[in-house]
Amino acid sequence: MDCIFCKIAAGEIPSTKVFENDKILAFNDVNPQAPVHILVIPKEHIASADGINADNAHLVSEIFKNIPQIAAQAGLENGYRIITNIGNDGCQSVKHMHFHVLGGKKLAEKMC
Ligand code: 5GP
Ligand code: ZN
Repeated sequence: MDCIFCKIAAGEIPSTKVFENDKILAFNDVNPQAPVHILVIPKEHIASADGINADNAHLVSEIFKNIPQIAAQAGLENGYRIITNIGNDGCQSVKHMHFHVLGGKKLAEKMC
Protein backbone atom coordinates (compact mmCIF):
# COMPACT_ATOMS: atom_id res chain seq x y z
CA MET A 1 0.00 0.00 0.00
CA ASP A 2 1.32 3.42 -0.94
CA CYS A 3 0.67 5.19 2.37
CA ILE A 4 3.00 7.97 3.48
CA PHE A 5 2.24 7.53 7.20
CA CYS A 6 2.78 3.75 7.00
CA LYS A 7 6.17 4.60 5.50
CA ILE A 8 6.89 7.09 8.29
CA ALA A 9 5.84 4.45 10.86
CA ALA A 10 8.19 1.96 9.20
CA GLY A 11 11.05 4.48 9.19
CA GLU A 12 11.17 4.50 5.38
CA ILE A 13 10.42 8.24 5.31
CA PRO A 14 12.14 10.43 7.92
CA SER A 15 10.14 12.36 10.50
CA THR A 16 10.83 14.32 13.66
CA LYS A 17 9.55 11.84 16.25
CA VAL A 18 8.40 13.15 19.59
CA PHE A 19 6.98 9.88 21.00
CA GLU A 20 7.00 6.25 19.97
CA ASN A 21 6.04 2.89 21.37
CA ASP A 22 5.21 -0.45 19.75
CA LYS A 23 1.69 0.66 18.75
CA ILE A 24 1.78 4.40 18.05
CA LEU A 25 4.01 7.17 16.80
CA ALA A 26 3.91 10.95 17.25
CA PHE A 27 5.88 13.30 15.03
CA ASN A 28 5.95 16.96 14.06
CA ASP A 29 3.75 18.00 11.14
CA VAL A 30 5.91 18.99 8.17
CA ASN A 31 3.69 22.03 7.54
CA PRO A 32 2.79 23.27 11.04
CA GLN A 33 -0.38 25.34 11.46
CA ALA A 34 0.45 26.35 15.05
CA PRO A 35 3.67 26.73 17.07
CA VAL A 36 3.15 23.13 18.18
CA HIS A 37 1.62 20.81 15.58
CA ILE A 38 2.11 17.13 16.28
CA LEU A 39 0.51 14.20 14.46
CA VAL A 40 -0.26 11.05 16.43
CA ILE A 41 -0.85 7.87 14.44
CA PRO A 42 -1.34 4.17 15.01
CA LYS A 43 1.47 2.19 13.39
CA GLU A 44 -1.20 -0.14 12.00
CA HIS A 45 -2.97 1.31 8.97
CA ILE A 46 -6.50 2.55 9.69
CA ALA A 47 -7.84 4.74 6.89
CA SER A 48 -9.59 7.26 9.13
CA ALA A 49 -11.48 7.55 12.41
CA ASP A 50 -14.46 6.26 10.43
CA GLY A 51 -12.60 2.93 10.33
CA ILE A 52 -12.51 2.52 14.11
CA ASN A 53 -14.11 -0.73 15.20
CA ALA A 54 -14.13 -3.19 18.08
CA ASP A 55 -10.92 -4.84 16.83
CA ASN A 56 -8.80 -1.68 16.54
CA ALA A 57 -10.35 0.67 19.12
CA HIS A 58 -7.57 -0.21 21.56
CA LEU A 59 -5.21 1.77 19.29
CA VAL A 60 -7.35 4.88 19.71
CA SER A 61 -7.22 4.32 23.43
CA GLU A 62 -3.45 3.98 23.23
CA ILE A 63 -3.21 7.27 21.34
CA PHE A 64 -5.40 9.19 23.79
CA LYS A 65 -3.68 7.57 26.77
CA ASN A 66 -0.38 9.06 25.63
CA ILE A 67 -1.48 12.46 24.32
CA PRO A 68 -1.32 14.16 27.76
CA GLN A 69 2.32 13.15 28.08
CA ILE A 70 3.09 14.19 24.49
CA ALA A 71 1.39 17.55 25.08
CA ALA A 72 3.19 18.14 28.38
CA GLN A 73 6.53 17.35 26.75
CA ALA A 74 5.71 19.91 24.04
CA GLY A 75 4.99 22.55 26.70
CA LEU A 76 1.23 22.78 26.11
CA GLU A 77 0.40 23.59 29.73
CA ASN A 78 -2.22 26.21 28.71
CA GLY A 79 -4.26 23.74 26.67
CA TYR A 80 -4.42 22.48 23.14
CA ARG A 81 -6.75 21.08 20.49
CA ILE A 82 -7.04 17.56 19.09
CA ILE A 83 -8.45 17.26 15.57
CA THR A 84 -8.97 14.34 13.24
CA ASN A 85 -10.17 14.97 9.69
CA ILE A 86 -12.29 12.36 7.93
CA GLY A 87 -12.91 12.02 4.20
CA ASN A 88 -13.47 14.67 1.58
CA ASP A 89 -15.82 16.93 3.53
CA GLY A 90 -13.47 16.68 6.52
CA CYS A 91 -10.53 17.71 4.26
CA GLN A 92 -8.53 14.59 5.09
CA SER A 93 -5.47 14.62 2.82
CA VAL A 94 -3.58 11.61 4.22
CA LYS A 95 -5.71 8.48 4.34
CA HIS A 96 -4.08 6.99 7.44
CA MET A 97 -5.87 7.97 10.65
CA HIS A 98 -4.04 10.70 12.53
CA PHE A 99 -4.82 13.05 15.37
CA HIS A 100 -3.50 16.60 15.09
CA VAL A 101 -2.34 18.03 18.43
CA LEU A 102 -2.26 21.80 18.02
CA GLY A 103 -1.22 24.46 20.51
CA GLY A 104 1.43 26.84 21.68
CA LYS A 105 -0.84 29.86 21.12
CA LYS A 106 -4.47 30.86 21.66
CA LEU A 107 -6.22 28.95 18.87
CA ALA A 108 -9.08 30.24 16.73
CA GLU A 109 -12.50 29.98 18.38
CA LYS A 110 -14.11 28.75 15.15
CA MET A 111 -13.60 25.12 14.33
CA CYS A 112 -14.79 25.27 10.73
P1 5GP B 1 -4.99 15.95 7.05
O1 5GP B 1 -5.20 17.07 6.11
O2 5GP B 1 -5.05 14.60 6.34
O3 5GP B 1 -5.86 15.97 8.27
O4 5GP B 1 -3.53 16.14 7.64
C1 5GP B 1 -2.40 15.62 7.04
C2 5GP B 1 -1.24 16.33 7.65
O5 5GP B 1 -0.07 15.59 7.34
C3 5GP B 1 -1.02 17.75 7.12
O6 5GP B 1 -1.07 18.65 8.22
C4 5GP B 1 0.34 17.69 6.46
O7 5GP B 1 1.10 18.85 6.67
C5 5GP B 1 0.98 16.48 7.12
N1 5GP B 1 1.93 15.77 6.29
C6 5GP B 1 1.75 15.35 5.00
N2 5GP B 1 2.83 14.70 4.56
C7 5GP B 1 3.71 14.69 5.60
C8 5GP B 1 5.03 14.14 5.75
O8 5GP B 1 5.62 13.55 4.85
N3 5GP B 1 5.64 14.33 6.95
C9 5GP B 1 5.03 15.00 7.98
N4 5GP B 1 5.73 15.11 9.12
N5 5GP B 1 3.79 15.51 7.86
C10 5GP B 1 3.15 15.36 6.70
ZN1 ZN C 1 -1.04 3.81 6.37
